Amino acid sequence: MTGGAGFLGVHLCGRLLRRGDEVICLDNFFTSQESHVAPLRDFRGFQLVRHDVVEPFRYEVDEIYNLACPAAPGHYQYNPIKTMKTSVMGAINALGLAKRVRARILHTSTSEVYGDPEVHPQPESYRGNVNPIGPRACYDEGKRAAETLMFDYHRQHGVQIKVVRIFNTYGPWMHPFDGRVVSNFIRQAIAGEDITLFGDGSQTRSFCYVDDMIDALIAMMDSRADFTGPVNIGNPDEFTVLELARMVVQVSQSRSKVVTGRPLPPDDPAKRKPDIALARKELGWQPRIPLQEGLRRTVEWFRSIRLTDYRPPTPNY
Ligand code: NAD
Ligand code: UDP
Repeated sequence: MTGGAGFLGVHLCGRLLRRGDEVICLDNFFTSQESHVAPLRDFRGFQLVRHDVVEPFRYEVDEIYNLACPAAPGHYQYNPIKTMKTSVMGAINALGLAKRVRARILHTSTSEVYGDPEVHPQPESYRGNVNPIGPRACYDEGKRAAETLMFDYHRQHGVQIKVVRIFNTYGPWMHPFDGRVVSNFIRQAIAGEDITLFGDGSQTRSFCYVDDMIDALIAMMDSRADFTGPVNIGNPDEFTVLELARMVVQVSQSRSKVVTGRPLPPDDPAKRKPDIALARKELGWQPRIPLQEGLRRTVEWFRSIRLTDYRPPTPNY
């Protein structure tokens, strides 16, 4: 698993190890830290390798989960050239390995391939509305190129691919300083600080609890060989960012005030909601945890950690 020490990675490693798999976790700890995988070290099947996926890697494996890439806007925009290299060269290196050892590869793509969508909700057939020269392009176009590489290796070399388009996911083990909306709002609510709404908060997102996401990633890896995706995975319950802010305040019983007046970041998508008909049909999957319950669990986790144990990966939070 590349990027196995990150937010989704630690959950996925844990689930695979608990079912008896052996996992080699490759990570350069850009947006994570070694302490994130500390609980996984109790498993004999777990191996941690500090490695940057821009450089080639060789292992004997049956399956590859390709997760390495900064995912939060503040992280991926910090060093955009490196983000593009990670996405594209990381995909080439992971695919090269898949080809050599005939491993099945699951690639974590993103709803960002739809950019600021003009079709709502977004089905997989929608080709998107991405600004190729804006500040989000390093991530969006990097992820689009990685999808292209997946399908070209599949057509040209018969590599077994699985492409998943992940929509906003949250839960315990998010980096508390990743600057994403859920972690920012929860951190602020617990500390009694103002909740920082960007723009007027009318933009929408659809938030998937991490346990639901991990179920889907494993179901996709285990699905029939000829189902390549791309498949949307996310929770189709759509909320404005203002509604999210109010729910976080309510769930954490905070006295924080929701403040407006901060500018909306450039190219911030106005709305986002997955059409998950394909995932329902092919994987028999749908999310089970409603936002309020997922936030309750996430707030509980944020209350249990010491923020001083976390190094902010970038100043953007
Ligand atoms: P994350 O930032 O927590 O994890 C990414 C991991 O990749 C980190 O451990 C980081 O250190 C590692 N990494 C980054 N660059 C690397 C490199 N060059 N070499 C080796 N390791 C590197 O993010 P996440 O939320 O766990 O996301 C995992 C994957 O899922 C990403 O590819 C992301 O684009 C995708 N995704 C996530 C979401 C979400 O809401 N969480 C949404 C869409 C897509
Ligand atoms: N956002 C916000 N306040 C914050 C962080 C984010 O209002 O402190 C907004 C952001 O502008 C976007 C939405 O919340 O409209 C989701 O942002 P996030 O960075 O989590 O991910 P995105 O879906 O934009 O990749």
